[in-house]
Amino acid sequence: RIVYLNGAFLPFEEARLPIMERGFLFADGIYEVSAVLDGRLVDNAAHLARLDRSLAEIGIANPYDAGEWERLETELVARNALSEGLVYMQVTRGVHERDFAFPPADTAPTVVMFTQAKNVSRNPLAEKGAAVVTVEDLRWKRRDIKSVALLAQVLAKQAAAEAGVAEAWMHEDGFVTEGSSSTAFIITGDGEIVTRPLSTALLPGITRAAVLRLAEEAGLRLSERPFSVEEAKGAQEAFYTSASSFVMPVVSIDGRTLGDGRPGPLTRRLRDLYLEMARAS
Ligand code: PMP
Repeated sequence: RIVYLNGAFLPFEEARLPIMERGFLFADGIYEVSAVLDGRLVDNAAHLARLDRSLAEIGIANPYDAGEWERLETELVARNALSEGLVYMQVTRGVHERDFAFPPADTAPTVVMFTQAKNVSRNPLAEKGAAVVTVEDLRWKRRDIKSVALLAQVLAKQAAAEAGVAEAWMHEDGFVTEGSSSTAFIITGDGEIVTRPLSTALLPGITRAAVLRLAEEAGLRLSERPFSVEEAKGAQEAFYTSASSFVMPVVSIDGRTLGDGRPGPLTRRLRDLYLEMARAS
């Protein structure tokens, strides 16, 4: 397994970081994840644009332009002979004696990339549909920044794991914010596809944007509005989206079965449309 660290492609075992690394001490950094399908990066330009924006929001200079990022990702995918899975990228504020405030401006950021093999397109869970549980959203107020500070999501995903389900949907004031690592959607009884509008209160999902675009092109009815946990439990269909799951059908929420308990027809159509788009990228 080959990983990327600060300009070098290295065997995984040789990639080491000092304990004064600010990602380790403070979670002072940004990450991004792109899917790989048939050896090619999916919707990667949008992921790199979000990486650039997240870095700018916390005052880390982006070490590479989009072309260089893509070149490095492509080389890493090739060196690992990855045909399907994920590329993980992380940039932190670098290594310096521990102090909350930023280190000197000439401190080099830490750049890490690795790949993970994963069956994204033929995931058996997508055939069966996922169960989700709901948990309180414990996160900070800038969830639009893809920060490596993920403790609330770690706890949410663990709650899902302990409940024996794949994902946790987080809620705030009775409304669903998003999944622990995904964007939440429901489909109402009259066929309206609903997801929360973008704001600083959630991550602007790249898969979310693609699914909304595909749904609109297919002439489906869309509404970007908040929806409550109660409304979700009474929905006809539901699904969540992410680079690592594409469009994942949801068949129950907190043990309440949606529809007939199988992935719904509109959800399956959106998954197929997304897969078609992803394969063409
Ligand atoms: N929301 C959260 C909190 C996430 O962690 C993720 C995945 N990183 C998403 C949404 C989905 O984003 P994307 O479609 O860009 O993977």
